[in-house]
Amino acid sequence: MTISRIETRCLDKGLRMTEQRRIIARVLSDSADHPDVETVYERASLIDKKIGLATVYRTLRLFEEAAILERHDFGDGRSRYEEMPDEHHDHLIDVQSGKVIEFQNDEIEALQSKIAEQHGFRLVDHRLELYVVPIDHKGDVTIRRR
Ligand SMILES: [Zn+2]
Repeated sequence: MTISRIETRCLDKGLRMTEQRRIIARVLSDSADHPDVETVYERASLIDKKIGLATVYRTLRLFEEAAILERHDFGDGRSRYEEMPDEHHDHLIDVQSGKVIEFQNDEIEALQSKIAEQHGFRLVDHRLELYVVPIDHKGDVTIRRR
């Protein structure tokens, strides 16, 4: 097995890499869809049936604490993970399908800095999630927020 991007980051940060941590690192490196813990567990199980859900939980938490992964809560109360991005992006979440789309918008970035300045602050970080349905969606939309 070659070394995945996330494993490289782990090694750079001096984390001790077990075989199971390497597999979980690989699963995250290969995922572009912001998987939750269960999904990471399912994908890791395809590589090694002996990996337990608790190990996946612990490892994701460890990688998050080392700033190797970023954790998101997209409104359904489940933690979702992605590799810490090199460049900032925001998220658009289709509440019907659960699909997550990444976007970057200079006007929004500038506007947020301006709002912070208007309140006497300098913006250092932000999170922005847009909850959407397809434009042609008919009927009620139920948004469950924790
Ligand atoms: Zn993302």
